[in-house]
Amino acid sequence: TTVNFALVGLGSLSTNQIAPALQKTKHAKLAGIVTGTPEKEKIWADKYSIKPENIYNYENFDKIAANDNIDVVYIVLPNGMHKEFTVRGANAGKHVLCEKPMANSSADCREMIAACKQNNRKLAVGYRCQFEPHHLYCRETVQSGKYGPLHAIEAGFGFKIGDPNQWRLKADLAGGGALMDVGIYALQACRFLTGEEPVAVTAQETKMNPKKFAEVDETITWTMTMPSGVNCYCSTSYAFNGINRFNAYGQSGWLGLDPAYSYKGIKGESKDGPIQFDQIDQFAAEMDAFAKCILEDRQSSVSGEEGLRDLLAIEAIYESIQSGKRTQVQKA
Ligand code: NAD
Repeated sequence: TTVNFALVGLGSLSTNQIAPALQKTKHAKLAGIVTGTPEKEKIWADKYSIKPENIYNYENFDKIAANDNIDVVYIVLPNGMHKEFTVRGANAGKHVLCEKPMANSSADCREMIAACKQNNRKLAVGYRCQFEPHHLYCRETVQSGKYGPLHAIEAGFGFKIGDPNQWRLKADLAGGGALMDVGIYALQACRFLTGEEPVAVTAQETKMNPKKFAEVDETITWTMTMPSGVNCYCSTSYAFNGINRFNAYGQSGWLGLDPAYSYKGIKGESKDGPIQFDQIDQFAAEMDAFAKCILEDRQSSVSGEEGLRDLLAIEAIYESIQSGKRTQVQKA
């Protein structure tokens, strides 16, 4: 049995990762598209045999309510549009898979969760790393206590961003800069490895190119304290390439991944040697997992609440930068 997906937004991620991944999925099938660019309709219809009645644009999207051939809408639009299309999708009776970061604010996340709940639809966030075997091994190992109680995690992700005119550098469409886009992977790693929610954060920002990064953050470093006492030292940047990793240090051992957050080529090391598993298509795994949740009527492990918790931590980080003070993370 299969679950039919419609992709909402046919940009780089949909084109280069998600649609190809949907050729490998067992339970998820690419059945529809929603695009604001009319020229893409025929290209996608031809390439993926999409039926004309399963093609929508942003204006007539709500008519998808009458289409029983679509079960899930996968929102792959700029961050600032996630809330609108998640709410419209849920109101149209569709389950929603939404790309990360879930939305521009925790208030928006709460609206999205409420809309899905009201319509009795499932909501998941595109946290592909949570399905990746190296990440799963690291969580299992840390939480098994193999290396004793955990003391610290170092995590960071950044890259040198190109085109100065892209939506990722615009506050309304991106909701923030490096932190929202890729710092969220480091934050996720800390939460995923420990299974804990940060209590408080301290954060600072540096900007070497204030013109390019007029609206969003360029480089942020932050620390987070977990309830158990684990300290997390994190960083993110849009200014340079290279940081793409986490390391976790326990009383009697350590492990880490570098690169940790890429689509492929994930590599790990531990006190006991290399961490090696097959590379998988993380998007295929993520979509099959959501399809199974729908088929088996279970909540996703990467639920809307999971997305909300990241936004609450991100808001505390931005607040700490503003105030210069240690800032409590609000509870979900
Ligand atoms: P992109 O710029 O390549 O695509 C965005 C799409 O949205 C384009 O098709 C564009 O036409 C459309 N769009 C509609 N209204 C727009 C507007 N006002 N301004 C700009 N574009 C508009 O971006 P992308 O890299 O595909 O990212 C899309 C989403 O996926 C983002 O939320 C991003 O954070 C997320 N993403 C996730 C991963 C991951 O590994 N999970 C990787 C990349 C991107």
